[in-house]
Amino acid sequence: MLSSDLRQKVFGEQTQLLITNYLMSSHKIDRERFKFNGGWPCLDYVNTRNWHSRDPAFERFTHYTDLLRWAEQAGLLGEVEAEGLRQQAERQPALAAAVFEQGLTLRETIYQLFAPIAAGGLPDPAALAELNRWLAVTLPHRVLQPVGQGSFAWGWVAGSEALERPLWPVVYAAAELLASDRLHKIGKCAGPSCGWLFLDLSRNGSRRWCAMNDCGNRAKARRHYRRSRNSSLD
Ligand SMILES: [Zn+2]
Repeated sequence: MLSSDLRQKVFGEQTQLLITNYLMSSHKIDRERFKFNGGWPCLDYVNTRNWHSRDPAFERFTHYTDLLRWAEQAGLLGEVEAEGLRQQAERQPALAAAVFEQGLTLRETIYQLFAPIAAGGLPDPAALAELNRWLAVTLPHRVLQPVGQGSFAWGWVAGSEALERPLWPVVYAAAELLASDRLHKIGKCAGPSCGWLFLDLSRNGSRRWCAMNDCGNRAKARRHYRRSRNSSLD
């Protein structure tokens, strides 16, 4: 058992490094299909769907290969490994479909964990139990890898043929966020039909939107419309 100071040192620094790397990589990638505004991998994963604020929900995941493409674009899965898993999914289509369904359930679990926190409440205990079940099957694949002269970093067992591979870093990211001191920075987009979650890393903690050029602009347009309509009625 790590003392709390040591835990803070080990996980705190590692988390900060992960945030920095994640933000840097997620800004460089092709965002044609998926968006990476959440500031943390498991929140971006949740944001592949517009949640209970829109009916019908907007869904970006339709097939197992979407999980691979998302993980690749998020910088959580290498190109070669993704291609290997794509071929593996072709060989085992029924298993790939089952893992895809698990991936959607995991996404709902993560939403049920963090959406209440974003609203100032506590996560659903059933969702926490579910995340712990995921951790039990995910953590055995976590390994330390050399990343240069005398440096090491956390990674995943290389070349795994397990179709769950794209979900592992999502599970781990959710656990890290939940155990971090950043829970008060989790927010939910104020857009009426959005529901996306984000980690507010702004200096003054004033973030309201998933993206300023998305829901932020729509809100601005609505304000402008209301103002112009009111003034035309004067
Ligand atoms: Zn939004």
